[in-house]
Amino acid sequence: MGRDLGPSCKKCRREGVKLFLKGARCESDKCAMERRPYAPGEHGRGRVRETEYLLQLREKQKAKRIYGVLERQFRRYYEKAARKPGITGENLLILLERRLDNVVYRAGFASSRSDARQLVRHGHVMVNGRKVNIPSYQVRVGDVVEIKEKSRDSQRVLQALRLWEGRPVVPWLRVDADKRRAEVIAEPKREDIDIPVKESLIVELYSK
Ligand code: SF4
Repeated sequence: MGRDLGPSCKKCRREGVKLFLKGARCESDKCAMERRPYAPGEHGRGRVRETEYLLQLREKQKAKRIYGVLERQFRRYYEKAARKPGITGENLLILLERRLDNVVYRAGFASSRSDARQLVRHGHVMVNGRKVNIPSYQVRVGDVVEIKEKSRDSQRVLQALRLWEGRPVVPWLRVDADKRRAEVIAEPKREDIDIPVKESLIVELYSK
């Protein structure tokens, strides 16, 4: 599965909001959005006429970039969300939240979602006692996500734990940081998802 390898900070500057793509750096004064909070490129500081389409497009790009999902896969999430009962935009965000790489990040075992994706891809993550190396794996209520024993004290995991120490965990996970273990105790709800995205605009864009 491909992924978007463009420079992370430029993505935040393009969207005009911190997307928290680089772990510890995002929390520091080295964050590019603190230093240059305008779009990259020659015309970055110019005024852009905000058409309805542009606003919708920006919301979609933001969501894709936050979760590190490419267009085709994102579209599949949308189609799946539209088939489910309930509000399509909320369904879409819930499907993205239930990705295994996002759960590893939300549990505090990785500093960023891209770090979490690498942990999963490289086989350091288990679900219900079995190795799962598919970042898009959809967790379900009752699933137990763990970092493999031999990777529990890796620099990457320890760094993340230090970074997130004392931060509240999302209410749909029960995390035992010492055991590097997180249990999915509920399905995420929209109000638990703290990303700066207006999902209704994404639905408007795709349903044209
Ligand atoms: Fe975005 Fe993080 Fe780069 Fe800041 S440091 S611009 S939040 S990726």
